[in-house]
Amino acid sequence: MTEAARTTAMRPGELKLEAPRRGKPPRHLADLTPDERRTAVVELGHPAYRAKQLSHHYFSRHTTDPSAMSDLSAGAREDLVSALLPPLLTPVRALECDDGATRKSVWRLADGSLVESVVMRYVDRTTVCVSSQAGCGMNCPFCATGQAGLTRNMSTAEIVEQVVDAARVAESGALGGTPARLSNVVFMGMGEPLANYKAVVGALRRMTDPEPDGLGLSRRHIVVSTVGLVPAINKLAEEDLDVTLAISLHAPDDELRDELVPLNTRYPLKDVVAAARRYAKRTGRRWSVEYALIRDINDQAWRADALGQLLAGELVHVNLIPLNPTPGSKWTASRSKDEREFVRRLEAQGVNVTVRDTRGREIDGACGQLAASTA
Ligand code: SAH
Repeated sequence: MTEAARTTAMRPGELKLEAPRRGKPPRHLADLTPDERRTAVVELGHPAYRAKQLSHHYFSRHTTDPSAMSDLSAGAREDLVSALLPPLLTPVRALECDDGATRKSVWRLADGSLVESVVMRYVDRTTVCVSSQAGCGMNCPFCATGQAGLTRNMSTAEIVEQVVDAARVAESGALGGTPARLSNVVFMGMGEPLANYKAVVGALRRMTDPEPDGLGLSRRHIVVSTVGLVPAINKLAEEDLDVTLAISLHAPDDELRDELVPLNTRYPLKDVVAAARRYAKRTGRRWSVEYALIRDINDQAWRADALGQLLAGELVHVNLIPLNPTPGSKWTASRSKDEREFVRRLEAQGVNVTVRDTRGREIDGACGQLAASTA
């Protein structure tokens, strides 16, 4: 047993790659491709072009309110909205911090599962952090979501709806007083996106398809964060989506990574790094590394050197994340002097590195914490 395993109340790592089957969420416009939307509209007895009108209301105007759809007859509106734009996310809690520039929401899904998302307004962009699963089966011991286990996969539309809601919130001026345009999406909420591959790829298409078929977001402004499911990374590289890949590395050596990211026992570091490198080559995009700095666990100077050696010469950006301690955990964030030394040693090897700002801390901003405290 390593030091890491001894100093935490970690349970033996059980990995659940398959989500348990639960009641399916209702069908929604955002689950469907443009062709499928036309078929669905015709099956409901309406002309096919209504699909485009409805898509315009949802993806361009971000509305599901029938009374705002003046290009549709009153009967058609009610009919199409109730069949294709059912409510998927019921707000349970919404919390603000950073003078209103950060807003975190907990949502209840149709089957009662709780998920969360966070919208953050910055000077140059507005980002939403979305969940892709209710819970998570990856069992990383420092992560609040990992402690609760996997409830179920989210549907494509449930994922997209978090983005549409964030766009609405930004446009309303609720984030810091003036209207803003949602520009970025990061899959860093609850869940392991690549363990819910099909729904996530569908959501990526809805996000990047031009309006009104989709939200028209730039591929360069979307980040998919993963523990390192190698076969799914390889598959994603073939999708022609070109979104940025972020790998939750958290350790530069297999012994410690086996503890911090239990999937490492199946796909070890060198395979994960090779897959990320192939992905970056294929898409021409820099990849990212996430590394939560945990005091005296993974923040030693020698580990900074080992990480630098592992990544020197890669087309990569390292994001150091000060650990946000989960309730009951013995682990905490690194001392600032150790954090500074870690950065210095990476930079000395020419590795591009930043320390992530810790937006949303006071509203349980880290992965799964607000949903866990709500439940
Ligand atoms: N399942 C995906 C997305 C998870 S959340 C993944 O693992 O990449 C996004 C990032 O937050 C991951 O790097 C995750 O390891 C990290 N994270 C989770 N809990 C954290 C905590 N308590 N403090 C700091 N980072 C945390």
